[in-house]
Amino acid sequence: MAANARNMTPRRVLIVEDEAPIRRMIAFNLVRAGFEVEEAADCAAARSCIADRCPDLVLVDWMLPDASGLELTRTLRRDERSRELPIIMLTARAEERDRVSGLEGGADDYITKPFSGRELVARINAVLRRTGGTGEEVLEIGDLRLDPVGHRIHAGGSEVTLGPTEYRLLKFLLENQERVFTRGQLLDHVWGGNVYVEERTIDVHVRRLRQALEPYAADRFVQTVRGAGYRLSAS
Ligand code: CA
Repeated sequence: MAANARNMTPRRVLIVEDEAPIRRMIAFNLVRAGFEVEEAADCAAARSCIADRCPDLVLVDWMLPDASGLELTRTLRRDERSRELPIIMLTARAEERDRVSGLEGGADDYITKPFSGRELVARINAVLRRTGGTGEEVLEIGDLRLDPVGHRIHAGGSEVTLGPTEYRLLKFLLENQERVFTRGQLLDHVWGGNVYVEERTIDVHVRRLRQALEPYAADRFVQTVRGAGYRLSAS
């Protein structure tokens, strides 16, 4: 609730769930915690809702009547406008949870039913903090700064120009510093799980990112973890 109260405008959460009693229970808890809510009973309604006005976060149930929550997540990740939209998947059973965690599909987190209103609000706030939520917080590592509002990057006092993919890659790594990501995970998070992008494409963009940062000696931040993937680290 603290993360929410800090902002002047309430965060908007879209609840995609076909079971009305569960949807209402979630909406009730979120409104009480200071969120604005929108509700959708299937994927088609969710997509039209998002097209009208992009929310700050989407709760997606795994089982929906017209398509699975996973498919909806993938669709949203492929679309430029909803690529960075925080998504939390709701699952009914442990086996679904395992599939979600294994497949990822680009969701930022998942919650297994049944869950309490308090747990849900805590997880939403955690994801909004982690993903930047409104995307307005300046991200930093060492003397490297990324300002998402001005869409600007500074290193050692100079402005750095990056291509759109390198920008998203750097932003994602800054939001998840010190964590190692495989190429597959970076594909899901930064490219939106687009199956037509080859994993070696990641290496090309990482190389470009390092080259752009090289004059500022910040290239050391983007580290290759042998046999695992990449990590942004201050050490
Ligand atoms: Ca359902």
